[in-house]
Amino acid sequence: MRKPGNKIMRIRGWALAMVFIGMAVMYLGIFFRETPWAMLIFLILGTIPILISFVIYFWVGMISARTVTVQCPNCEKYTKILGRVDYCQHCKEPLTLDKELEGEEFSLDYNVKHRREKKIAELKEDQKEK
Ligand SMILES: [Zn+2]
Repeated sequence: MRKPGNKIMRIRGWALAMVFIGMAVMYLGIFFRETPWAMLIFLILGTIPILISFVIYFWVGMISARTVTVQCPNCEKYTKILGRVDYCQHCKEPLTLDKELEGEEFSLDYNVKHRREKKIAELKEDQKEK
């Protein structure tokens, strides 16, 4: 199974895919040159994913401002982290901002606040018992 990539890279990938889908749909419109209304529908349908991709790019720009740049301990390159846990942009090493979760089994559950807090509470409980 392919490892999931860095979130921002993944979102950008989706936005790029949308542009291509939009262009492909517009291109299909060429086959309907004889029927202007059908061609128009394809052109309109084609602009929708392109508009969505612009919104996604804009949104990525906004969330990029909230990311934290860290040095990856694995490949020593700098990477942007979105949320509490994310993957390295370069080597796809799972990274976390929570000291408590370091060395623990990696899960995207930690992006959900109450799940992360539950896990941290469990870890603290374990440490007390030792
Ligand atoms: Zn890395």
